[in-house]
Amino acid sequence: MKSQKLTKVIVFLCITFGVVFWSAVAAYVVAPKGDQIPALTVQAPTEQDPDLLAKAADLGIDVSNITLRYGETSAEKRMAEYTYTEYDDESVSYKIVVRPNPSTNEVYASFAHEYYHYYWDTHKEVRSVAPLVRVLYTSYPALYDRMATYRNQGMVDASEDFANELYAIICTEVNSSAISADLQTYCSNGVPNRSMITSIY
Ligand SMILES: [Zn+2]
Repeated sequence: MKSQKLTKVIVFLCITFGVVFWSAVAAYVVAPKGDQIPALTVQAPTEQDPDLLAKAADLGIDVSNITLRYGETSAEKRMAEYTYTEYDDESVSYKIVVRPNPSTNEVYASFAHEYYHYYWDTHKEVRSVAPLVRVLYTSYPALYDRMATYRNQGMVDASEDFANELYAIICTEVNSSAISADLQTYCSNGVPNRSMITSIY
């Protein structure tokens, strides 16, 4: 960890619930944009739990830039965490803390959820998914209820952070049969082997 003063720290604290099953499909087409995030120097991970590295391979995700570990404190065992830290020397660090769970499926879901936040930060084109996730949010009471935690934290429905959370939750907790083909493409772009989260297939 470098000692420069921080310019920006963003932390997403997330809890993964059980899987929500829906039967309907929302169709809404948005063309992806090709924008890329300006390159910042990425700091090397300070640790990577071997079991999480193996699970990353299962999920088909690139975690080479991410510090990875399981939650250890009581707070970390309640909620998973994704942290983006930007430093004054224009370097960045990424960290994912996964909530331990006896259910392997829940570990995959928790890990994938946090990885979607990383993917959102590093692949600007995925932000085009916002209208698609909002269609589901406004159509399904179960998803509206699921987001209560975030509304209660003061997160505004129209904000980018809210769309970011919706994206992570839909791709890891909603049955694939309820997700439109276009939205599934965005989910698979982030986590190629979503089928490892067996409860949504
Ligand atoms: Zn989240």
